[in-house]
Amino acid sequence: MKACLLRAPAPVETNPLEFADVPDPRPGKGEILVQVKMCGVCRTDLHVVEGELPPRKSPVIPGHQIVGVVERLGEGAKRFQPGARVGIAWLHRTDRTCEYCRAGMENLCDSPTFTGYSVDGGYAEYAVAPEDFVYPIPEKFPDDQAAPLLCAGIIGFRSLRLSGIKRGGRLAFYGFGAAAHVAVQVARYWGAEVYACTRGAKHQQLALQLGAVWAGEASAEPPAKLDAAIIFAPAGELVPAALKALKKGGVLVLGGIHMSPIPSFDYNLLYQERVIRSVANNTRQDGEDFLRVAAEIPVRTQVTVFPLREANRALNDLKSDRINGAAVLDCTR
Ligand SMILES: [Zn+2]
Ligand SMILES: [Zn+2]
Repeated sequence: MKACLLRAPAPVETNPLEFADVPDPRPGKGEILVQVKMCGVCRTDLHVVEGELPPRKSPVIPGHQIVGVVERLGEGAKRFQPGARVGIAWLHRTDRTCEYCRAGMENLCDSPTFTGYSVDGGYAEYAVAPEDFVYPIPEKFPDDQAAPLLCAGIIGFRSLRLSGIKRGGRLAFYGFGAAAHVAVQVARYWGAEVYACTRGAKHQQLALQLGAVWAGEASAEPPAKLDAAIIFAPAGELVPAALKALKKGGVLVLGGIHMSPIPSFDYNLLYQERVIRSVANNTRQDGEDFLRVAAEIPVRTQVTVFPLREANRALNDLKSDRINGAAVLDCTR
């Protein structure tokens, strides 16, 4: 099959992904082989490709927002029929036995594997995954529209949950890329008022179009005090700015897997029971709940589609802020 291989992390400007022929993956016990139709491009892919996340497998095929069709079943797999449309996300497998898995916090599993990082992902024509960790894709989403739901959507949803935002509450997003452009639709559906702090007029405009009541620069102070804020941008310097915008008791959620160092700040910004918390991965329950809500709303994603062989270009465009909404690879061409 054709696939984009990362042999060693390097700046995306050097186009480190190699478009190559590799053997088709084979589904093991309880796994399914999926013909990949579309694979979303996530900021985490950038962190994998550029080495901010230390390599776990080399070479590796990145990509963890896979929409495709079941091609073949591994031994004992029976949850899906060949031809079924499914999604493969970041959480590829957990051990099911550690204290976190047993306590219903599989997102924090001690020995997980991650799609497109510790095992091969979806920048390819085929991918395999354990059937238990795969999602049925609601019918109303076309393949390209569905792809960004699988990480940007699910992680944004978990971030919203952890923010504790309620009907009538005020919420800000710092950074308005793939995750925020979905999360704003869920937050509005839940009756929250959304503020967008993000660089670039195009991102601000998209936020307003999707129902934000206000949009300004990344470090600008929203015109009202917030119940919660979510930082999706990987920029630690936004933490003090976001804390400053919170009400007493407000919650700040850090939605990314990687962030530049957080500068020191006055305790005053945190005092009055303000809370900072990170988001790590998601449970399968988050994924299922999100896809149900997304279909109910229904969420609309704005996508820019690139052919698989142009994955380097997609990553460069993401890094330099040229994607409005989400980038998606068409793995059938
Ligand atoms: Zn575990
Ligand atoms: Zn992701």
